Amino acid sequence: MANTYSIGIDIGGTNTDIGLVTPNGKIVQRRSIPTNAYTELAPYVRDMVHEIESMVKEQTTCDGQAVAIEGIGIGAPNGNFYTGCVDNAPNLTIKGNLDFGKEINKYIHVPVVLSNDANAAAYGEYIYGGAKGMKHFIMFTLGTGVGSGIVVDGKLVHGSTGGAGELGHNILIPNGRQCSCGRKGCLETYTSARGIVQTYCELKGCHVTPEVTSKMIGELAHQGDPIAIKTWETVADQLGLAMANSVTFSAPEAIFLMGGPAQVGEPLLKPLRQAFEKYLLNIYQGSCQIRMSELKANEVAILGAAALIKMKK
Ligand SMILES: [Zn+2]
Repeated sequence: MANTYSIGIDIGGTNTDIGLVTPNGKIVQRRSIPTNAYTELAPYVRDMVHEIESMVKEQTTCDGQAVAIEGIGIGAPNGNFYTGCVDNAPNLTIKGNLDFGKEINKYIHVPVVLSNDANAAAYGEYIYGGAKGMKHFIMFTLGTGVGSGIVVDGKLVHGSTGGAGELGHNILIPNGRQCSCGRKGCLETYTSARGIVQTYCELKGCHVTPEVTSKMIGELAHQGDPIAIKTWETVADQLGLAMANSVTFSAPEAIFLMGGPAQVGEPLLKPLRQAFEKYLLNIYQGSCQIRMSELKANEVAILGAAALIKMKK
């Protein structure tokens, strides 16, 4: 008999986090390698595999019996579920179309499943978090950008290209703020960490500086600062509108929210729930809740990646 685990790999621009995960979502071993130290796929994957082998060895000693790997899940920017490749991710130092499955299978012969990081986070919530048992939900991730993942009928929506679920790039305000995607007025430019800082600075009449962060604006709101409170109310109204519009698409049971700026809590959540109900089409009222992710912020990326393995069955 062997204990069976899955591997979750979160590829970020700076670091790659690798975890050994139990069937019920506990990370028992984790490692990190610097993504930006590599410019070629082969040595990067070789070192990644080395860390996996080291985790397996350590866990074999812990368990006192053999460790089996069910599969390897990878969450990465621009990760494509259909091709298993990361296609020209702008924030990676390794360029080109990167076929991780093929490269990893040179060393380890298990299924490799890859998706973009926001879709992986949504699937992690479904397998290990608060969406367990649900069939229809949408996840919004607030961070550097605004990511989203959509689960319908118990399946993650990939779409025709593998790139479905980019609700952060729905245009909220035509000809609004410049977005990194090249267009103007995307939701992301208003409700990402940077967007929130920009709104605060506009309301305060100051310049955006590195000292102003969404975390700081959260602390100010808790202290009763009227401009900070107004900032979160503005963000809540914009995000609530986007969420209410997304409900008309798939009638989810819940919309989950995660990411750094969402940690502010009530200064965002209270006006968000109000805005959401205000904008929601009447036939959906009372049928869909806004909920916080139940996964820990420092575990969600690894768990989301590991959860992708469960899709193979
Ligand atoms: Zn955009």
